[in-house]
Amino acid sequence: MAIANLWASELDYRRTVLKAVLIVIIIAGSLFVVNNWFSGFQVYAMVELAVVFLCIGILAIHKRTPNLTLWCSIFLFAVFTVILIGIYSASFNSGLFTWLFIIPVLSYLLLGIKLGTLYTSVYMTAGIAILTYALIYNLADIYPITIANILLCLAAIWALSFSYEFKRAEAVERLQQIASIDPLTGLNNRLLLDSIFDMLCQSLPEEQQSVSMLLLDLDHFKKINDQFGHDTGDKVLVKVSQLINDMRRRNDWAFRFGGEEFCMLIPNTNMQQASQIAERLRVAIDNITAVGDSKLSTSISIGIARWPDDGSHLPQIYKAADERLYKAKAQGRNQVVSG
Ligand code: GH3
Ligand code: MG
Ligand code: MG
Repeated sequence: MAIANLWASELDYRRTVLKAVLIVIIIAGSLFVVNNWFSGFQVYAMVELAVVFLCIGILAIHKRTPNLTLWCSIFLFAVFTVILIGIYSASFNSGLFTWLFIIPVLSYLLLGIKLGTLYTSVYMTAGIAILTYALIYNLADIYPITIANILLCLAAIWALSFSYEFKRAEAVERLQQIASIDPLTGLNNRLLLDSIFDMLCQSLPEEQQSVSMLLLDLDHFKKINDQFGHDTGDKVLVKVSQLINDMRRRNDWAFRFGGEEFCMLIPNTNMQQASQIAERLRVAIDNITAVGDSKLSTSISIGIARWPDDGSHLPQIYKAADERLYKAKAQGRNQVVSG
């Protein structure tokens, strides 16, 4: 799952953008509060003051909140609504409508493609409706060409914001894939082990909390390379990966740790069930008799450890599984060791 790392970097990026925007809105909002209060718009000034306090509150928690998207949504809802009220009630000459241009930019930067499109559609439509209403009822000195210019400019900024966010998200996902997927076998690589292990530990209800780790290492793989060549060695790695992938259940995770070492994380199983899964895999790999045109035999050794029985943190679990794998090798290979 590339998602775990991807989402962490996305959140980091959004926290930075949110902080910058909050500071600008707090400063601009405070100036508006003072100006509106002394211009006789006390009610509007109070609403703006409430938004400024909301922004200060969000600024205080933006680094550690687990609900960043929710807070971004609340923040944009408050700011955009105040902008619309301002455009509706102030004169056109105040230039408040220029704040409409910020709507697509902020929406896409803080909420991503889907929610960003939703927010932009709703608030831009409302903004244009207010301006059109003012035009139709001659509430201000607006000409159709003014509205047309505003519309075109909004459309251009919307298109730019959308394509920027779309391409940025695509690039981040592609980079993440390159970094987290083993190109030969398509399995996850070691970079993802930590985040997936944490996710599995946290997602299980307390009474089911267990994660089994299987460490698998092909036996005498060097000999296959030496005897049949590196390309055939690669084909063996791909075939073994396919077996591991086919035999894992929907909630199990498979990794290639580089070389001819693999790992599986199996949530919610006791040691007996984990040993049965490992044994089935061992037999399936032992039954490989040919790869491509080469007739060859393979076998694998497997060490198993379990969280939380073998330790409370990943390094302890890994160490226990590795020691058992070493034991399996020392005892003659082609076997599963779980204790
Ligand atoms: P053991 O039973 O003790 O594990 O012996 P082994 O030969 O499997 O282990 P060893 O660590 O000595 O050798 C692993 C070999 O795996 C050495 C290396 O050439 C080969 N290897 C590592 N990565 C790749 C790869 O991506 N493709 C191929 N074809 N071979 C690889
Ligand atoms: Mg080996
Ligand atoms: Mg090895």
